[in-house]
Amino acid sequence: MTSNVEFKAWRVEEKDGNYKGTEQTLNTADLPAGEVLVKVSHSSLNYKDALSASGNKAVSRSFPHTPGIDAAGEVVESATGSPAVGSQVIVTGYDLGMNTAGGFGEYIRVPAAWCVTMPSGWDSQTAMIYGTAGLTAGLCVQKILTMGAKPEQGKVAVTGASGAVGSVAVELLAKLGFDVVAISGKTDHADSLKALGAIEVVGRDALTEDKKPVLKPAFANAVDTVGGSPLAELLKQIKPGGSVSCCGLVAGPQLQTTVLPFILRGINLLGVDSVEIPLTEKEVVWKKFVGDWKCPKAEASAKTIGRADLDSALKAFLKGESAGKVVLDHAV
Ligand code: NDP
Repeated sequence: MTSNVEFKAWRVEEKDGNYKGTEQTLNTADLPAGEVLVKVSHSSLNYKDALSASGNKAVSRSFPHTPGIDAAGEVVESATGSPAVGSQVIVTGYDLGMNTAGGFGEYIRVPAAWCVTMPSGWDSQTAMIYGTAGLTAGLCVQKILTMGAKPEQGKVAVTGASGAVGSVAVELLAKLGFDVVAISGKTDHADSLKALGAIEVVGRDALTEDKKPVLKPAFANAVDTVGGSPLAELLKQIKPGGSVSCCGLVAGPQLQTTVLPFILRGINLLGVDSVEIPLTEKEVVWKKFVGDWKCPKAEASAKTIGRADLDSALKAFLKGESAGKVVLDHAV
């Protein structure tokens, strides 16, 4: 019987408007009601975790709270029988780590409908190298492919290229034969972005604000992970008929644009949500990453940390300094 098991969690508390995460001992009886108890071996770090840990109420309303929007591990109790006790599962998105205690704890309790069976050939560590960020990169790429993006149409841009979503998008698009232009603010990451497969690395000044409503088309298609004014500028540089997947807001949630790139060039702006989509849509992308979409460079370059490193790693996300994928291993 595992209902009363003590475990460690990195829990964020609020004191006088300040938010601080520390390692605490909790009990599985403290977890919310749910159908499936998972012993989490790995989680993955995401920008949203950094927002939650810093007290962003749009992400997590009440504290104390255990962040971690991703988790992978073994099912130890299952009220529904599916997933079965003993099976390995991946849980990403929905309310995990937002207002439901998340993967920065060694146990989570969640609805069965949030659990994806671990694809054969994968383990928790590998699944969490991809995590929500990898899943989102996959969904962004899938969306532009569905709209007809092809390598022969020309270069594809990726913004926030050194980040968790961006780095997987760069490798995946390069693997699919696209000429990838990585747009990055980190001059010291040019070599690693080229190693992921980018043919060109340009600075964020490629998307500096310009008053003109459309600019010389530079990219056939794009994956945008930053939003805000860089996205508005990117839209002006897309070739006629091209598509841009958009998933993020690190450069701001506002999008001030005109209709001109859309009505003069017929471009497509495609929103990507990896959180609330049906589990079956997530499974399709996970299976691709196990097979044809495997990104060995992202897998090899992922950094593994323990709970003691969470604070500094999350702060790096908020400063835009995080690069590549960071995995939390509860055994470290
Ligand atoms: P990261 O922090 O790992 O990457 C974001 C990257 O954006 C940074 O590494 C940096 O890359 C660049 N960047 C940071 N600040 C700015 C800025 N002010 N202006 C321009 N570029 C900036 O985050 P993730 O990759 O995990 O997430 C990216 C975005 O996608 C986030 O907004 C996140 O919330 C969102 N997201 C959305 C999901 C969805 O389902 N829609 C799921 C997952 C993430 P560089 O230095 O190379 O320019």
